[in-house]
Amino acid sequence: MEKIKHLEYFEKIIIDNGIIMTPQRRAILDVLFTNRKRHLTVEEIWHQAKNIFSQIGIPTVYRTVNQLESIGILYKIMVQGNCCKYQLTDHEEKNKHRHFICTRCGSITDIYLPEMSMTEQQIENRYHVKIENQNIIYYGLCTQCIQVSEE
Ligand SMILES: [Zn+2]
Ligand SMILES: [Zn+2]
Repeated sequence: MEKIKHLEYFEKIIIDNGIIMTPQRRAILDVLFTNRKRHLTVEEIWHQAKNIFSQIGIPTVYRTVNQLESIGILYKIMVQGNCCKYQLTDHEEKNKHRHFICTRCGSITDIYLPEMSMTEQQIENRYHVKIENQNIIYYGLCTQCIQVSEE
């Protein structure tokens, strides 16, 4: 039930943006939702989506993730080697989830902030804009790589 409610939330945004909810897009959305705590490549999304809708082609997955990113419901995270990983934005916490990428091992950590930061409010006030989404990435060493370099 919880899943249906959240999927409906994302479906509504998609439809409101004039994108038709085809079986292919529904399969992709389902995969993204099931893996919403992870960061997936287009290939990974495609492999899983094929289990739901077998005729889906990889160009459709590319097109769909670009569409979903452009309407602000998907994070696009550039990782090493020009590869991108994708993750559905959070239902209630749309503005708060950020990413930390380890420059040594490439691991991605989700960073959750409790509420809209002061900085974002300052940006809105100073530039007279309304922030609806963000895609901020921090770079550095992850916990494991710090431990390895200290040993
Ligand atoms: Zn690391
Ligand atoms: Zn994430």
